[in-house]
Amino acid sequence: MRIHNVPTSAALSDPGREYRASEPDAPLRCCLRKSLPDEPVWLFRYSPSSGKGPYAEVGPIFTHVDCPDEPSLDRLPVELLNNPRILRSYNAAGQIHDGEVVEPGSFDRVIEGLFNNPEIESLQVRSVSHGCFYFAITRA
Ligand SMILES: [Zn+2]
Repeated sequence: MRIHNVPTSAALSDPGREYRASEPDAPLRCCLRKSLPDEPVWLFRYSPSSGKGPYAEVGPIFTHVDCPDEPSLDRLPVELLNNPRILRSYNAAGQIHDGEVVEPGSFDRVIEGLFNNPEIESLQVRSVSHGCFYFAITRA
């Protein structure tokens, strides 16, 4: 699988972005880990690329202002998967195929099963409570 994070430069496209000294444990979409206390972060509106047309959604995400880490994009970021998450699948046209809640420890198996379906082009990992976008996954 291939993980798709969000570069910090994406924040610059939102004129309403907010600069913050983060609370601890904010999920950072740049390096795909939780924030430490007082790290400078952007909070801004972001639209993941897998949803297109009416399925394009905009929501709030955090990134570092200057990201100090390079995430591994060939394996799941375990620090963001220690709680149940929504896995939302999209077809090549960017329409939602399905969505399901996945428990920690089951992500690899569920993702493999979803990608066995040739109609599914990409996945979005989202929070269960707020539905916030965390990162996207495609086949390697
Ligand atoms: Zn970062």
